Amino acid sequence: MLTVDDLEIGFSTLHPLAGVDFSVARGEILGLVGESGSGKSMTAMSVMGLLPLIGGRVTRGSIRFEGEELTTLDEARYRRLRGGRIALITQNPMTSLDPMVRVGPQIDQGARLHLGLDARAARIRTVELMARMRIPDAARVYDLHPHQLSGGLRQRIVIAMALAGDPELLIADEPTTALDVIVQAQIVQLLVELVRERDLALMLITHDMGLVAQACDRVAVMYSGRIVESGPVAAIFEDPRHPYTRALIGCIPRPGMAEGTLAGIPGTVPSIADLPSGCRFHPRCPMAVAACRDRVPQTVAVAADHGVACLLAGAASGDAP
Ligand code: SF4
Ligand code: MG
Repeated sequence: MLTVDDLEIGFSTLHPLAGVDFSVARGEILGLVGESGSGKSMTAMSVMGLLPLIGGRVTRGSIRFEGEELTTLDEARYRRLRGGRIALITQNPMTSLDPMVRVGPQIDQGARLHLGLDARAARIRTVELMARMRIPDAARVYDLHPHQLSGGLRQRIVIAMALAGDPELLIADEPTTALDVIVQAQIVQLLVELVRERDLALMLITHDMGLVAQACDRVAVMYSGRIVESGPVAAIFEDPRHPYTRALIGCIPRPGMAEGTLAGIPGTVPSIADLPSGCRFHPRCPMAVAACRDRVPQTVAVAADHGVACLLAGAASGDAP
């Protein structure tokens, strides 16, 4: 359904994203995982056609949605796609919800705009959707304002908003990060059910490998603006080939651990203004050899649907360099 191929993003002369390749199929959950600053949210914004808002543009590569090239789409068509066939769920419900407006009518908007429903039909559909989100007493909650709801209920409202236009592709950017562990698990469970029953494609952006293991079918690991490893979840967890993936799996974050504090990988994701030469991971890589400073690794297939961008990718898993 969505295929991103060799995507490169430019901000004036800088290229924070280069070498982004992944795809998501209908009925599939793809985890896009990496530390804070690795370019996950920027990837989401690229797919949503929102880069111009932050001064960026696509400088190479392609983003195809159901066969249609999105990188050259004009804004009017993109506006119809956004919230209609492609919807985004953001990390902080308060940024997607208008604090001054009752939550029900905010959900109605999607169905009115993208499905052409009148006010009455939209309201009926919204209450059904809210009930499906397991919001108790949906008809009453419809008339409440965001601040009257718990964080978990607000996130369910945001998911209902995303589904209101009946999308085919859902992009969820750290949808549970602000929530406690129990609520987090419930929201993830809900997303998984929605994908299965509506045959959606879901791109789940997270820094949490535990969440990937729990919810995803396939995973794309991102580091410093590029996909360094991708494949089926089982293959990646059983046989991770990229040193960064191994490190991420070695430090599945504990509940409550803040994003960007993945213990076990010393150092941080490089700043886009000061990117390392060669393999961008080399300053932090425990397996780096001299060549890693000069050569940008190409992505190689190590198994069916399992690609790795590391100069040592041919080596068997667990081997020392
Ligand atoms: Fe590490 Fe070199 Fe592989 Fe990069 S190419 S991940 S630095 S071993
Ligand atoms: Mg982010």
